[in-house]
Amino acid sequence: MKKTRLREYARLIVRCGVNVQKDQEVMIYADLDQPEFVKMVVEEAYKAKAKKVVVEWNYQPLQKLHVRYQSVKTLGTVEPWQEARQEHFCQVLPARIHLESSDPDGLKGINMEKVTKARQMSYPILKPYRDRRENRDQWCIAAVPGEAWAKKVFPGMRTSLAVEKLWEAILDTARVTDDPVKAWEEHNADLARRCDYLNSLNIRSLHYTAENGTDLTVGMMDEGCWRGGRDTSLQGIAFNANIPTEECFISPKKGMAEGIVYSTKPLSYRGQLIENFFIRFENGKAVEANAEAGEELLNAMISMDEGAAYLGECALVPQKSPICESGILFYNTLFDENAACHLALGMGYADTIQDYQDKTLEQCREMGLNDSMIHEDFMIGCDSMNIDATCADGKVVPIFRNGNWAF
Ligand code: ZN
Ligand code: ZN
Repeated sequence: MKKTRLREYARLIVRCGVNVQKDQEVMIYADLDQPEFVKMVVEEAYKAKAKKVVVEWNYQPLQKLHVRYQSVKTLGTVEPWQEARQEHFCQVLPARIHLESSDPDGLKGINMEKVTKARQMSYPILKPYRDRRENRDQWCIAAVPGEAWAKKVFPGMRTSLAVEKLWEAILDTARVTDDPVKAWEEHNADLARRCDYLNSLNIRSLHYTAENGTDLTVGMMDEGCWRGGRDTSLQGIAFNANIPTEECFISPKKGMAEGIVYSTKPLSYRGQLIENFFIRFENGKAVEANAEAGEELLNAMISMDEGAAYLGECALVPQKSPICESGILFYNTLFDENAACHLALGMGYADTIQDYQDKTLEQCREMGLNDSMIHEDFMIGCDSMNIDATCADGKVVPIFRNGNWAF
């Protein structure tokens, strides 16, 4: 891939993605796959006047070794210095950049029970820190190609060619054009217009149907608020949390989901795939889940904690989106979730509540915002998907017809 185009992408992540501020600290989380690109991002962050940039490297084979050889207790223990680091993050609010490149199957065979138990141990200690940072910091998830990931997306292709093809797909869908910053301004404006219309409807519930058998009704909070594209932190800094993004999304009301929904794309969860599954909801809760592949994993995910069986997000993405039209199955949620309508199990986002700035997280949860240690998107959109909204005044308004916006 041409260096000039990669440089544009690095700049886009730093400027439009997290929007690094003068004297701000920056954390970058990356795998070992593209060190040259990570270096470009670090350099762009310094050019944007970052005070300090810290890179935390991840390598899936090491993750596997740690899980294999450490006890659950060791894995789940949060050491005092790790807590001190979390405290530091809460105090200085670094901009967080996550560069994904990992192998969708890279953690296959890992002892899930051990991972789950360790996570359940560490979560209560880490959660208060997460809650304190919630909506206050800027963050951005973007992707770079890893070799194993590229081979999974383009099987049978020479590795170097597959990596190049994946770079192209990533940069095209991330709108890295001649002037990416301008392209993102237009895109953010389009998503904002759609959200304004959805918010004007005062939607009380969405009814999803599709030829595959999906027939699901999901209730909304009275004070729910659709969002999409550009975000603004409570510090007043604009940022784009996902590059790419195509969705208008909202957190539904906990306890209000009835019916059955079928997945339309595989879900990569913790480095393992769950394929061809359905989930049935009663009173908002997932009461039955069935998968052709990865059923055990799906059920483990749903039972991570109390909130993991409830919905935390409803997102609308037309089939006419650059990612969907590319026809590529990325085996990565960042891309696949932006190619199709999706739901998420687990934590809901407080910023999809009106005037959330003036409410505590506890108040948001009382209104029906779900809470969980997980937030896992799964794709349900397809060409035959119709979605109708029932509004506060009783009117039924078409939102999606045959997989695309009805307005
Ligand atoms: Zn989403
Ligand atoms: Zn999500």
